[in-house]
Amino acid sequence: MGATDHSTDAATRLLVLDDDVNVNATICAIAARAGFDVRATTQAEEFFQLVADWQPSHLIVDLVMPEVDGVETLHRLALSGHQGIVIVTSGLGGRVLEAASRAAEENGLRVSGVLPKPFTPAKLRSLLHQEPDKRLTAGVGHVTPVSADMLASALAQKQLSVHYQPKVICTTGKVVGFESLVRWQHPERGMIFPDQFITMAERNGLIAELTRQVFDMSLAWFAANFLGTDLKIAINMSPVVLADAMFPIWVQQACEHHGVAPSQVTLEITETSSMENPVATLEYLTQFRIKGFNLSIDDFGVGYSSLVQLARLPFSEMKIDKMFVMSASTSIESQKIAAAVVGLANALSLNVTAEGVEDDWTLQFLCDLGCTHAQGYFIGRPMPPEIALQWLSDRPGR
Ligand code: C2E
Ligand code: CA
Ligand code: CA
Repeated sequence: MGATDHSTDAATRLLVLDDDVNVNATICAIAARAGFDVRATTQAEEFFQLVADWQPSHLIVDLVMPEVDGVETLHRLALSGHQGIVIVTSGLGGRVLEAASRAAEENGLRVSGVLPKPFTPAKLRSLLHQEPDKRLTAGVGHVTPVSADMLASALAQKQLSVHYQPKVICTTGKVVGFESLVRWQHPERGMIFPDQFITMAERNGLIAELTRQVFDMSLAWFAANFLGTDLKIAINMSPVVLADAMFPIWVQQACEHHGVAPSQVTLEITETSSMENPVATLEYLTQFRIKGFNLSIDDFGVGYSSLVQLARLPFSEMKIDKMFVMSASTSIESQKIAAAVVGLANALSLNVTAEGVEDDWTLQFLCDLGCTHAQGYFIGRPMPPEIALQWLSDRPGR
């Protein structure tokens, strides 16, 4: 069913795959009025042919069709490297839709949202005009892994640096501090992000040296600019370094050396399976607390962090994983998880920071939930040291 013969703007071509011709007609009518060139089909093979020949900018794919499996269709689209915007629709419940669209995103498709049936014209129009998630446009894959030797020599040559991301109070926007995030400036490959080398550093005995360098740089920067203020510096600490009994002492000495009070330092710890010795972990974390450091459980809600750990370890803050925060504006499920985590933190009298806040709506949503602190691109990106200072001084009301 071709709705228009002449091709207009290549950025507004919509192709619909749904077994219900009435649904197809309705979607086409709404989209055409919204300025789209539209085509629809009930057949998967014709759909893929049109994707190849007509090159639509937008696709709407029905998840449940008698002869075609929508998940399979999305998988095939992802494998073909399709870069258009995808909207997933179905009459099934929202959770199924969200699961399918998440799988599609994780396979690299640019999913702009889900369209539960029945839908309103307004909902469809808003999805058609919505930008896909930034994460998915950032070029997935194609990363050559870095080797332990490369990282060891980068550490020896001091090629690592630290960027700083601000953290604010949700209700007032007041800056309470910065989180330090390591960066590797490689002479040929440019900036390498920590997701590409932290795990490798942990596995190859390089994490202790990396952590020492990051602490030194972060504390030096903080001491040079923020002594005597009420700001805090948050530093990520791999649980692997907790296995070293000397670490609490080393960290304390580094603070003394730079003249930074432990109460101005927050250690962010992601709980992982590598917390092999729970008793030792408990001891080290307790030592840090006794010395006056703040402890934050990072990435709460994913992986290994659990209620049990939260209750038995002496954390003063938790951070809701950005996975739930970034998707809150489009996922009811994420909203509920964020609400539950904030409720839990409040019940335990812990501060709770949402990371990955990318828009105004999400900040307001978190604020309404009772979340205490926020971080994210909407507030400020991780920045090189001097830019972070500039950002702070430009900020009204600081
Ligand atoms: P993390 O501690 O959960 O840090 C948050 C990550 O989310 C950072 O990625 C940050 O750049 C990114 N981010 C912040 N706001 C937003 C947002 O609004 N949207 C999106 N899409 N992303 C946002 P980054 O810097 O690549 O760091 C990745 C992870 O690497 C960190 O996750 C942390 O676990 C680890 N890491 C970073 N620096 C260090 C370090 O010095 N030591 C250790 N052990 N781990 C580190
Ligand atoms: Ca962190
Ligand atoms: Ca995180």
